[in-house]
Amino acid sequence: STQIHLASRPTGWPTDANFSTVTVELPELLDGEIRVANEFLSVDPYMRGRMNDAKSYAAPYALNEVMTGGAVGRVVASRADGFNVGDPVLHQLGWRDVTQGAASNFRVVQEINGLPLSIHLGILGMTAFTAYVGLLEIAGMKSGDTVFVSGAAGAVGSTVGQIARLKGAKRVIGSAGSAAKVELLTQKYGYDAAFNYKDGPVREQLHAAAPEGIDVYFDNVGGEHLEAALDAFNPGGRGALCGAISVYNSTEAPVGPRNMSNMVTRGLNLKGFTVGNYTEHYPAFMADMSQWLNQGKIVFDETIVEGLDNAVDGFVDLMRGANTGKMVIKL
Ligand code: NDP
Repeated sequence: STQIHLASRPTGWPTDANFSTVTVELPELLDGEIRVANEFLSVDPYMRGRMNDAKSYAAPYALNEVMTGGAVGRVVASRADGFNVGDPVLHQLGWRDVTQGAASNFRVVQEINGLPLSIHLGILGMTAFTAYVGLLEIAGMKSGDTVFVSGAAGAVGSTVGQIARLKGAKRVIGSAGSAAKVELLTQKYGYDAAFNYKDGPVREQLHAAAPEGIDVYFDNVGGEHLEAALDAFNPGGRGALCGAISVYNSTEAPVGPRNMSNMVTRGLNLKGFTVGNYTEHYPAFMADMSQWLNQGKIVFDETIVEGLDNAVDGFVDLMRGANTGKMVIKL
């Protein structure tokens, strides 16, 4: 099995030097174990936090151990009941071509005609579940709300905008980092208005796109975006704090929103969440999302980077915004 290990902890942006490629001989399968050949690995922004030696909701990656994370593949050998050669499975064992272990580490996933297994990392997986829980449970979006989404062309953001539309939002506004992404937001993902945050101050661009203010903010970015949203909120506004990618690689202390007092004067409710704590909503998510996909009511994009050798580059490219929709590594 060929694996990518974390060799040293990055300061600022990760580089190839922080990782190593290691090949190990796999032992014979024990009773109750399966072996899986991976087809797609997930690269996700939260992985940057786990590369630091800092206390967080997920433990730091150990040095000289494999980079773990979501992956999908097929069973190539099985000594476990309920797993047959060829079955598609999802697991969290990460950045390696072949993996094996106790069957309890793996879950058989549904195959959907004509769609690659990577959907279980994106539109039927963790990122879309994050969008669903964050928008509907954490922010409590209701029909008639004006909704603003940052990071709107990414895996989570492109799904949030479409769910908001399906759930009767009055107006959905998104921001992203290129003209091509901004066009996709309005042409493909159901956004009513969109802007490129690199074109000028977010506060001004948001005000132009939402002159009557916003009721819900789904925050993937933090920093300047969060401060702008705090200024744009209508009284009683609600926010889901999902991520703050603008500061993940920063070596300086972030500049906090300077207008938090708007929470008091406007009675705002901002709530942070990590999706792993909301698994009770998973069945509802799967039911809704499968139906929306079948009915063609939800679309999605994936950006595919080929080869385990390019996993690190794919991860860094994700952090830089090279992706549209879900970034995956194809083996
Ligand atoms: P994305 O697919 O959205 O990829 C990351 C995107 O972030 C890039 O494509 C880039 O797009 C954007 N970006 C990078 N730097 C900046 C910046 N300085 N300012 C604004 N945008 C930037 O990733 P995900 O959909 O997987 O994740 C989106 C967010 O959700 C992240 O913050 C992540 O940590 C969070 N998350 C949280 C979870 C939770 O449980 N709370 C679970 C899953 C994800 P662009 O070209 O537009 O700049």
